[in-house]
Amino acid sequence: MEERFIILQCGQLYDGVSEAALANAAILWQGSRLLAVGRRGEVAPPAGAPCTVLDFPSATALPGLIDEHTHLSLPGDGRSYEEMVRDSDDLMAIIGARNLALHLRSGVTTLRDHGARNQVGFALKEALRRGYVQGPRGLFSGRSITCTGGHFHFMGAAADGPDAVRREVRRNIHDGADYVKIMASGGGTAGTLPGYASYSEAELRVAVEEARRFGKLTVAHCRATTSILNAARAGVDLLEHVQFHDADLAVRFDPRVAEALLQSGAYVSPTLQAGTQYASLLGLRAKQERGELTPAEKERLAWNESYQEERLTIFRRLLECGFAGRIVAGSDSGCFDFAFGHLQYDLELMVVGGLPNRQAIRAATSVAAKAVGLAERIGSLQPGKEADLLVVAGDPLRDISALRQVVAVVKGGERVV
Ligand SMILES: [Zn+2]
Repeated sequence: MEERFIILQCGQLYDGVSEAALANAAILWQGSRLLAVGRRGEVAPPAGAPCTVLDFPSATALPGLIDEHTHLSLPGDGRSYEEMVRDSDDLMAIIGARNLALHLRSGVTTLRDHGARNQVGFALKEALRRGYVQGPRGLFSGRSITCTGGHFHFMGAAADGPDAVRREVRRNIHDGADYVKIMASGGGTAGTLPGYASYSEAELRVAVEEARRFGKLTVAHCRATTSILNAARAGVDLLEHVQFHDADLAVRFDPRVAEALLQSGAYVSPTLQAGTQYASLLGLRAKQERGELTPAEKERLAWNESYQEERLTIFRRLLECGFAGRIVAGSDSGCFDFAFGHLQYDLELMVVGGLPNRQAIRAATSVAAKAVGLAERIGSLQPGKEADLLVVAGDPLRDISALRQVVAVVKGGERVV
């Protein structure tokens, strides 16, 4: 039986690529494929064809969001990594199923999973493929690759030296990895050193070459300035965090390293909500407004605000260097207390940091689609693309926080919210 046509009419539409939104718009699709996008009244199914009409006269329709950086198998419940990894692989898979649902309901229709232990990522990938769980379209890195004792060393893919890195890339890809995640510096894992590169340029280059041999992209976790330079020179496709930490952990923006990164053509995911612990910050600000902060919370809030300013300062410097079109949204959900369902916070912080609203939206739609290698299929509302849509109340091109007011979510043509 032919699938029904569906028309969604909305107050306005932002297609993820244009300079401005289109008022009184309509989108037509059949099955999972977008057929037409335009003004209401001008978009119609073939004469006489049965068609379902969805009408949101005061809402804005956008492409479904893409979260380039998540950790599905971690609960984001405030515990440390060392506590979280006491969960069994079985429990981690169940956590992943829950997180998939949370992100989908919030408007994320595609995500990357940046490293799960052993086979957990691949089990989630297969569960999605079989339709056992509902979630965004998923791209899975499998185990994140790291040096002995390095950031996320408990994921089951420690590798030292070019040969070992090559072996881990091959193991992951043959287990089903869609791309390769490698830890180029220390991070939040106890004992690791975020101010130091944990891999040489030569080791990273092997990961990139080996991934490319199998047609895969690479992502590197880079907090140390030296790791940013190594990853840029090695040709890594996307860099995470990009915090410009010196060995002493002080933050010192280095314009020459930024220039090398820009010239490399890599995308940058600044993970602003993770870097600023934005969810906690919002909670503390709300308590402050009610006059309910304890002295300890006051101290915590001050630290949080200054840390946010430090992260946004680096973000502004990157924008000044010409990175606006290469910024990609990534929530780092699952880590610490970064619960799933809040990719929108990253876009809000990008706007605070000086990115225009429409460009912040592109960072989670059309630019993100290019960065994850799916630009042909997703990231914009154009005929031929997947019918992935987020419908929100209000106008996120004027007020970015409107993205949180989810009215409907459509993934692959099917309304899921
Ligand atoms: Zn991460």
